[in-house]
Amino acid sequence: MRPFIYERAADDRAALLAAASKDTMPSNAAPAQFIAGGTQLLDLMKLDTMQPATLVDINGLPGHSAITLSPKGLQLGALVKMSDAAAHPEIKRDYPVIAQTLAMAASAQIRNMASLAGNVLQRTRCQYFRDPSWAACNKRDPGTGCAALEGVNRKHAVLGISDKCIASYSGDFAQAMVALGAQVQTVRATGGGRTIPFEQLHTGSGDPHRETVLAPGELITGFTVPAGPWTRRSAYVKVRDRESYAYGLATAAVALHLDDGVVREARIGLGAVSYKPWRAKEAEDALRGKRLDEATATAAAQAAFNGARTHGENAYLPDLGRRTLVRALMQAQAMEI
Ligand code: SF4
Repeated sequence: MRPFIYERAADDRAALLAAASKDTMPSNAAPAQFIAGGTQLLDLMKLDTMQPATLVDINGLPGHSAITLSPKGLQLGALVKMSDAAAHPEIKRDYPVIAQTLAMAASAQIRNMASLAGNVLQRTRCQYFRDPSWAACNKRDPGTGCAALEGVNRKHAVLGISDKCIASYSGDFAQAMVALGAQVQTVRATGGGRTIPFEQLHTGSGDPHRETVLAPGELITGFTVPAGPWTRRSAYVKVRDRESYAYGLATAAVALHLDDGVVREARIGLGAVSYKPWRAKEAEDALRGKRLDEATATAAAQAAFNGARTHGENAYLPDLGRRTLVRALMQAQAMEI
């Protein structure tokens, strides 16, 4: 690992000041990075994929580690540990899809360390991105090409991709945030803060080097999840090569408002099959007003993957993604709430 400067920030202002002159953003080329759990950042620094000169430790920032529930919804601090949110009794009862996405991610040790904000900003698992000995990677080095297009791509995305990058989004929690219409709160070095719809946090594959709309030095402080009649009937299905400590091949987070078996509202977030946390609006539209059964769920899943594009080894993924979504919908329907 390359040497780096370590700074510990006592509050938001100190963190922003420490990063202000150093173009901090979740990019491998940025000279400074915020660090909380560090569960992925340190990995990527050891691999030399990310090379920050400065790490700004934000673990001591006050006010960003709370979990608050109210009739209006759920507020999650950016520094809440994944394991704490996953085990929270009211989140498990009122927002089960959130608890499930977090409980199925990584290992217990990593969940105890990793923060929610760090989790949503995780980088892709694409092996060509993580291994700098591969020259062709537009995400790591813009303009160099994409080794995965003709290479090993069994776990690469089929939705939201471009000829510049077919990397998949491998997180879990973000799919629940997309499905539930969450918002992201930030503070900025330039002063003030802003609220970003979670669905707009991650950018598309047209410019793979840039992964989020966060500005240099902008810090996520929390997430708001609005209450709704769909949050309790919500579920997450994650299909992977092994049943624990593995990234998904296809994942689906769903939340349903059913009225006597008819879908009043459906919220769907997909991951692993997609370049970024993916809101499956076509599938939601296909379900609304219909009686939910295996046939309508299958038709919705078909709609979700109408735009899928495969590249050799991942030709199986649209079918796996459809089956994953159908299973999630039927699982949510069967819940007793
Ligand atoms: Fe790089 Fe994206 Fe291609 Fe992977 S899929 S090699 S991350 S450009």
